Amino acid sequence: MQRQCLECGDKLIGRVDKKFCSDACRNTYNNRLNKDSKNLVRNVNNRLRKNYRILEQLNPNQKTKVSRSKLIEKGFDFNYITTLYTTKVGKTYYFVYDQGYLPLEDDYFALVKREN
Ligand SMILES: [Zn+2]
Repeated sequence: MQRQCLECGDKLIGRVDKKFCSDACRNTYNNRLNKDSKNLVRNVNNRLRKNYRILEQLNPNQKTKVSRSKLIEKGFDFNYITTLYTTKVGKTYYFVYDQGYLPLEDDYFALVKREN
């Protein structure tokens, strides 16, 4: 099989484990990979931060109850949490750092702040 540089596609000559035709191609390739993974991390961090701010704002006194539509209206994204906590009776709390929510009936959520 013809081996090609992962960056520019040029034919590779030499060692079997060689992946790039030159240092320049290796650097370009690795820089791009790092940039993509940094963007991914940054985007996820931004989503988490936004979710955290929303929970913090809606729950200033450690404990409250809000509707799903209120959370969505604020821009809350249910895909981004940091931890799950399941109680002995099988209730699962979803946490974004120390701010959590527990799904209740009728599309309501109990908001709680975790004690340290
Ligand atoms: Zn190359």
